[in-house]
Amino acid sequence: MGRIKVVRCSDSGIDCNFVARSESEEDLLNQVAKHAQEVHGMEMNEELVQKVKSLIHEEEQVS
Ligand SMILES: [Zn+2]
Repeated sequence: MGRIKVVRCSDSGIDCNFVARSESEEDLLNQVAKHAQEVHGMEMNEELVQKVKSLIHEEEQVS
């Protein structure tokens, strides 16, 4: 039981079905950074980190 942090790539306005889930914001940002670079060719910078943080929401963890 608990909450888990979720970021959907599509929430940033990109047509992409990637979803990152983690209990840790740091881990979540790492997952998104890796995805953004590998799939979208985007380098994470401070502006992008702030944008991703604004897109984080929490969901009930299903276990
Ligand atoms: Zn994506």
